[in-house]
Amino acid sequence: MPATPAWPPKSAPRLFVEDELGTGRTIAVEGNQANYLARVMRVTEGDAVILCDDLTGEWATRVVQVDKRRVELEVEQHLRPREPVPDFWLCPALLKKDRFDLVLEKATELGVARIAPVVTRRCVADKLNPERADTIVTEAAEQCARTALPEIAPVAKLEALLRNWPQDRHLFFADEEGGEPAADAFCYAEGPAALLVGPEGGFDDAERAAIRAHPASVAISLGPRILRGETAAISGTAVWMAEAGDWLDEE
Ligand code: SAM
Repeated sequence: MPATPAWPPKSAPRLFVEDELGTGRTIAVEGNQANYLARVMRVTEGDAVILCDDLTGEWATRVVQVDKRRVELEVEQHLRPREPVPDFWLCPALLKKDRFDLVLEKATELGVARIAPVVTRRCVADKLNPERADTIVTEAAEQCARTALPEIAPVAKLEALLRNWPQDRHLFFADEEGGEPAADAFCYAEGPAALLVGPEGGFDDAERAAIRAHPASVAISLGPRILRGETAAISGTAVWMAEAGDWLDEE
């Protein structure tokens, strides 16, 4: 007897929607998402689409109506609850646009809970387009099958970030001038954590002194080479996930 094909197929399109999902609900997607389903993926009535709502998790839905500007889907089956998210914030200094886009995308893939962009004295950029940042993290989450979106905090100046820092969160400071090896620091410090990474030109001396003097701060090294800001943010996040995050939960 031929095996019953898996439903929904793994190749089904995945999308995050704003509506809360639940069995039997009808969800309408419009704009770019409708365009993606109708024109790029060429879905037709009866096709499977996987939807997530960043609240209840992932659901199998079936297309009930398609036109160019609107696709209607009926929610059929709960597939996975929203994933537990390791309590890790990435605080990267703003970088040039395409390099910061990379940080947003890779931090999402790596499973961070929150991205808190920082402006420092040597930043060449001081603004982030919130809609564009949302689109980048949402598409990254769709692509890598995350069921949770990272929160993107408003851009903050370094002074404000340090002033408002929550007492119970380790602030790992990627210091290219040296610190404790990242993997050692991460695995001995339990609990909520964050990684602060500088911009293209690094932190200036006063900033470095202020960060080092902060009671939550632990200066860490990411090795003997000077990494670009985006490489430091991405590799530091990966090391934290391996040493203290959810890479440890894999069987
Ligand atoms: N000050 C430098 C300069 O302009 O020559 C480079 C700064 S580096 C491009 C950007 C940021 O990445 C640094 O501020 C630091 O947070 C992080 N970083 C780069 N290499 C690192 C390393 N080996 N260890 C720790 N942090 C590093």
